[in-house]
Amino acid sequence: MAQDAPRPDATPKASHYVNGAYREDEAGAPIPVVYPATGEELTRVHAATPAVIDAALAAAAAAGPVWAAMTGAERGRILRRAADILRERNRELSTLETLDTGKPLQETLVADAASGADALEYFGGLAAGIAGQHFQLADGDWAYTIREPLGVCVGIGAWNYPTQIACWKAAPALACGNTMVFKPSETTPLCALKLAEILTEAGAPPGVFNVVQGMGEVGAQLVGDDRVAKVSLTGSVPTGRRVYAAAAEGMKHVTMELGGKSPILVFADADIDDAVSAAINGNFYSSGQICSNGTRVFVEEPVREEFLAKLSARLSGVVMGDPLDETVNFGPMVSERQMQIVQGYIEKGRAEGARLVAGGGRVDRAGFYLEPTVFADVTDDMTIAREEIFGPVMSVFSFATEEEGLARANATEFGLSAAVFTRDLARGHRVAAGLRAGTCWINQYNLTPIEMPFGGVKMSGVGRENSRAALEHYSQEKTVYVGMGAVDAPF
Ligand code: NDP
Repeated sequence: MAQDAPRPDATPKASHYVNGAYREDEAGAPIPVVYPATGEELTRVHAATPAVIDAALAAAAAAGPVWAAMTGAERGRILRRAADILRERNRELSTLETLDTGKPLQETLVADAASGADALEYFGGLAAGIAGQHFQLADGDWAYTIREPLGVCVGIGAWNYPTQIACWKAAPALACGNTMVFKPSETTPLCALKLAEILTEAGAPPGVFNVVQGMGEVGAQLVGDDRVAKVSLTGSVPTGRRVYAAAAEGMKHVTMELGGKSPILVFADADIDDAVSAAINGNFYSSGQICSNGTRVFVEEPVREEFLAKLSARLSGVVMGDPLDETVNFGPMVSERQMQIVQGYIEKGRAEGARLVAGGGRVDRAGFYLEPTVFADVTDDMTIAREEIFGPVMSVFSFATEEEGLARANATEFGLSAAVFTRDLARGHRVAAGLRAGTCWINQYNLTPIEMPFGGVKMSGVGRENSRAALEHYSQEKTVYVGMGAVDAPF
């Protein structure tokens, strides 16, 4: 059984990774790393001191010209080598991800280092093809553009997908010739250090990818530094507002991957079993700690009770337990604090009159476990219908017409994702066109292959990760006008 396998030592060689090597500075505030399944402290890291922050930024700035001078093909080869190493070490990295986040090994074996490897492979493959444009102009003149890196990029991560977030930011940034200083969430500091180690092993020069630990204030110091050209944040909307404003002070480029309150519209003609599967994936995978989750499930009235009955029956398939046991398919919340936040929302749902169909309680065991929770008869004005919960709490609504369903689905400040379930081809595309979200799925949910752009509209963010679109967000075009004839002047 997987739980009998020896657990890898989670203690990193040091807290930070700067200029191609681990680095420690015990003067920084200690940050405990807690295993969410038991509440035990696995290890500690230290927050970056100003000296460490400065060293990381200096290393990234110094490495920039070296890295950018390499050909795209050379950089791409290193990224693809790193992808291979991630895949070779998938089990070890997945186990570390599970220790860091509490997500079941059943998930991390397929969703984290694997997704990170996809990003490094994809952008590694594109690196040699990054190119500018050519314009033929009047009188034989012409112009061309050079697609240049931005410089030092800062990546700041949330705690739900620490490996994937680091890779989704590092891969396009490095492919374009930028260097990066990455700050993981202080809740999950371990996985990004492994990525740094692997990039070095794959041949990335020192300073190309650095990791510094710390709370939001370390992130704020990075964002405010004059050496930084671009900030890519994955986090909540309130943090996004602060970071975007700070970046604007220095006219820095930004990518903001923020929160959501995404709708899933289930029409009466849909395959209800598929819709239930999608709602389960979109609310309970990673114990609901996914930005793009479809936490507002709108079910057309005639099939609402069928949907709820099938959903309730499927919840008996939840296997809760030690996430390192590969038969477990539902793990704890990442932290006691996050568990308490979600419990607060469940209480509000009850108090505001939503009907509790399933779950609602803390599980009687060590660690930060909450039951998968379903509320029905939720109205649009309830707190659980409006605010991002970031936990295993699904709200089910009903609607009567396509127009009504679409209008209510869009009545949110967020716009990360959305889905429609129907067998009517025309309606599927019509509703997808009307949904105000960065990603819409028809008869599917939460699949985010690297080829597809991913990002939000409205308060859910700015810019796109993944796909060729990400290259635009980590580079800029310099225009060169070439005069081929005499220069005219009025006098
Ligand atoms: P937070 O917004 O609390 O934190 C995100 C990161 O920003 C953390 O590393 C945090 O540091 C850091 N930070 C906080 N304040 C500042 C600041 N002033 N300047 C610079 N950095 C700062 O998000 P969570 O970690 O709680 O993650 C959950 C949120 O992330 C949810 O809203 C979720 O929807 C969103 N998310 C979005 C995704 C997307 O792609 N759209 C994907 C995954 C999650 P620290 O926490 O260490 O103090």
